[in-house]
Amino acid sequence: MSLYAMVGSIRYPPWLSESAIDLTATRIKLAHVNSTQFLLVLPLLSITAGALIAQSDWDEPFPPHRIADNLYYVGSKGLATYLVTTTNGHILINSSFERTLPIIRAGVEKLGFRFTDIKILLASHAHSDHVAGHALIKQLTGARVEVMEGDANVISSGGKGQYLYREGWKPCAVDRVLKDGDTVTLGEAKLIARLTPGHTRGCTTWLMQVKDRGKSLNVVIIGSPNVNPGYQLVANQDYPEIAADYAKTFRLLKSLPCDIFLGAHGNYYGMEAKYARLQKDPNTNPFVDPEGYQAYVEERANSFQETMRKQMK
Ligand SMILES: [Zn+2]
Repeated sequence: MSLYAMVGSIRYPPWLSESAIDLTATRIKLAHVNSTQFLLVLPLLSITAGALIAQSDWDEPFPPHRIADNLYYVGSKGLATYLVTTTNGHILINSSFERTLPIIRAGVEKLGFRFTDIKILLASHAHSDHVAGHALIKQLTGARVEVMEGDANVISSGGKGQYLYREGWKPCAVDRVLKDGDTVTLGEAKLIARLTPGHTRGCTTWLMQVKDRGKSLNVVIIGSPNVNPGYQLVANQDYPEIAADYAKTFRLLKSLPCDIFLGAHGNYYGMEAKYARLQKDPNTNPFVDPEGYQAYVEERANSFQETMRKQMK
């Protein structure tokens, strides 16, 4: 059943006005519901919110694979999780949902690493599909959680303070709050956190260098360049600087040297097709794609500009 069909089949109570529900969006906004109504509508929402945000490939396993050097993909088909291995333990980027944990753990183990050797847990941005499982992974591994300023409070409060969304998750203590340009190091691995706000206030693009066939390559893991359905870029009282943040993000993304192009969801960089190419020809690394990166950032920047123009009318 398609998402839209699922949305269409849900009957909303009368007080949940059409304006409060963006049927094109995949999430629910509760801004116009008062507290009594909220309690009444809560059981309905706990079902519908889960159903509405579930994308068909989010819970589908995907073969874990090496991208280059000590960098691996261990996520589900639709939710990217990256593993950076070192001789002193490992770094994991994105926990996804609690229910994604078995896929991530199986991926780490299938590649020959121990899940409990994860020492640092990072995130692309503080939305449930990337961080709702943080508390569980921290509990199972004892990993230090390091999060960009702007998203740190959202993760530690279990989802409070997000722009637009009201979904919660298990609060996860944050051990270190990062600023733009900060470095996360473990063993021989070094990642640089770049603040790329707009999608969330602390949306983070991760940079690292890897060696591939003797060459040093720049990796860029894009936090998210997307303007989600329902996002207000003009006269936004909850996030007044949102448009300026996106503009800053696109300027930065365009300036970054990128050889290996990755992102918070595999569909940013055509993960499935590239993985298929890797199976056919293991001697060429399909994840090395500087032109694909530039084209993607350009296309997303244009899409942002287009949304701005529409909203300013
Ligand atoms: Zn997101």
